[in-house]
Amino acid sequence: MSRKYNFNAGPSTLPLSVLEELQQDLVDYKGMGLSLLEDSHRAPTYEAVHHEAVALFRELLGIPESHKVLFLGGGATLQFAMVPMNFLAAGKSAAYVNSGAWGKKAIEDAKKLGQVQIVFDGKESNFTTLPDPASVKVDPASAYLHFTSNETIGGLQWKGWPETGEVPLICDMSSDIFSRAVPVKKFAYIYAGAQKNMGPAGVTVVIIRKDLAENAPPNLPTMLQYSTHIENSSTFNTCPVMAIFVVHEVMKWLKEMGGVPEMEKVNNKKAALIYDILDNSSFYRGTVQKDSRSKMNIPFRLPTEDLEAEFLSQANKNNLKGLKGHRSVGGMRASIYNAMPIEGVQKLVDFMADFEKSHK
Ligand code: PMP
Repeated sequence: MSRKYNFNAGPSTLPLSVLEELQQDLVDYKGMGLSLLEDSHRAPTYEAVHHEAVALFRELLGIPESHKVLFLGGGATLQFAMVPMNFLAAGKSAAYVNSGAWGKKAIEDAKKLGQVQIVFDGKESNFTTLPDPASVKVDPASAYLHFTSNETIGGLQWKGWPETGEVPLICDMSSDIFSRAVPVKKFAYIYAGAQKNMGPAGVTVVIIRKDLAENAPPNLPTMLQYSTHIENSSTFNTCPVMAIFVVHEVMKWLKEMGGVPEMEKVNNKKAALIYDILDNSSFYRGTVQKDSRSKMNIPFRLPTEDLEAEFLSQANKNNLKGLKGHRSVGGMRASIYNAMPIEGVQKLVDFMADFEKSHK
């Protein structure tokens, strides 16, 4: 078997041991004679997986009792709408940070549903920088502040958290959840699509402070109310059992690897390897200002688009896959989520150094 190093931004690389375990479990789950894919989401076998996944989330992220963990459908994108539907009461205004492609999408949906106030606009720096968290000022009457902890396309990541007092802090952590320690208690609401640091596409993880769901407009359709999912432990309808099962396996792997603190250390080393070459080269160019750079998604450019095409083609031949930047920005992007081993990043930087030597 020849597995490539996969730098895709999402869906993205998964731990090999998890994939191998899945292969075993797929046909006959723990001697049941059938797969979890084929069993009821209300059967005790699946229920055990579901509850253990929640328990692992609580343990690994340090989620307090005040918050619930939910598994929802519709991708992180549905949360762009569900957040204002549930939390942006009529007559109120919500504060948003426009940090790039994903922040912008959240803003677009919120504007359809209520009033939005932009408290930082990255447009002014062509989305190459984030604000100093301490400089973000929010009107105390705001319904909430929404921001994106890591802009997957632009490659920007917050290094601290805004202070909002009583105003609920809401964060899209799709592309950096579980990559570093997070003071969950500070947040009223966190959401993340699974397909980067947690598992496959098909499930969105929500961490919600219970009291926040209580004031949603009662006329919202049942599936769009967080309270429905809180009351039914995410099994109001048929939940995405397979995606949740894989998330459960990835959480077990993460725990075996030493949990979030260990992951954070390795992630720091991996990112430093790539930024080192970008900072010491006149050939490669990082696109984000230093204090806002992401440790998960690292975009970079080469001197010409022809060289970029050649780089991608040669990288592919060297088993380095998924390095093409997002279609909206071009260039390269190395996504180095938790499951990317440091050996893969070392292989990439060795390749980059060789390519620079032969094409300068
Ligand atoms: N937010 C961020 C930061 C993302 O990176 C993505 C997907 N790449 C989304 C939201 C949208 O997620 P989904 O495709 O699961 O709806």
